[in-house]
Amino acid sequence: MNPVIIVGHGPAGISAAIYLKRAGITPLVIGKDAGALKDYQDPVENYYGFSSPVMGSFLIDSGVQQAKRLGIKVMHDAVLKITLKNDLFVLDTLQTQVQAKTVLLATGKTRKALDVSGFSSFKGKGISLCAMCDGYFYRGKRIAVVGSGRYMQSELSELAHLTDQITIFTDGKPLEVDVNHPVIESPIVRIGGDDRVRFVETQEGVHQIDGVFVAIGAPSSIAFASLLGIATSNGNVDVDEHFMTNIPGLFAAGDIVGGKLQIAKAVYDGMLAADGIRAYLKHKEKAPSGD
Ligand SMILES: Cc1cc2nc3c(=O)[nH]c(=O)nc-3n(C[C@H](O)[C@H](O)[C@H](O)COP(=O)(O)OP(=O)(O)OC[C@H]3O[C@@H](n4cnc5c(N)ncnc54)[C@H](O)[C@@H]3O)c2cc1C
Repeated sequence: MNPVIIVGHGPAGISAAIYLKRAGITPLVIGKDAGALKDYQDPVENYYGFSSPVMGSFLIDSGVQQAKRLGIKVMHDAVLKITLKNDLFVLDTLQTQVQAKTVLLATGKTRKALDVSGFSSFKGKGISLCAMCDGYFYRGKRIAVVGSGRYMQSELSELAHLTDQITIFTDGKPLEVDVNHPVIESPIVRIGGDDRVRFVETQEGVHQIDGVFVAIGAPSSIAFASLLGIATSNGNVDVDEHFMTNIPGLFAAGDIVGGKLQIAKAVYDGMLAADGIRAYLKHKEKAPSGD
């Protein structure tokens, strides 16, 4: 029986796996791809320990290799369903079914893409999905923030101190929050430029822009949460100080629990979740069955 199955081999999942292993508990890790950094073409420049910029895919691969070197099994598979049967978690994946006493969800968040011409070709060349990661490169420049709700407002707060030339594009949606910046509600027709983004074209005109930050809807990948009845708020899984959800034995860490969506924070969450899982398993061992 697996004491722990970790869903996700990104920074949160692998960090938790390493700390669990060091505490004498061998987890099974299941991940389907490189997560948030999957298609990111720009290097990561703000993570500790690299004297030169490092590609996200390299970071993720290195984490997986590190876990394997410590004797942790990392499966490449997608978890489709998690159910709770007789105090055990049953995970159905594409390839198999596995069971565990505890589960850590470290499945990250899916940022929504913008369905307009130019999005794919300029992603990473002036179009960003992460204000905290890339905002620094647009100091004093003309920035478009695309979105209309709370997620847009939160990304805006990361950018507002970097430049006073910010325009909100709601892409045809009504603005749902208060902002102190010009707002253009007209639908976006395309994003264009040369080797980098130079303009955003809406149905009403062309706007010269140096960078576009996409923050549509709420970033979420918490499909499991709704299936299992896990409590969530504003698109984040709710956890206690030990990173346990409202379902005993089910933990969550990293982007999925919200806060700063950064590698450093995901690694920290993973470490604390490992502590929480270790304490929970120890308590279960001592407690009479049914507790
Ligand atoms: C474009 C972009 C650029 C970024 N740049 C930076 C940066 O420069 N610096 C920085 O600090 N942060 C950056 N970030 C944020 C950073 O990538 C995340 O904060 C971090 O990766 C979160 O780690 P995580 O482990 O919570 O989730 P993720 O890294 O997203 O990992 C999620 C894991 O869950 C797995 N998974 C999801 N669903 C399933 C499933 N059903 N079955 C199995 N596995 C599943 C995925 O395969 C993946 O292994 C960036 C994010 C984006 C989108």
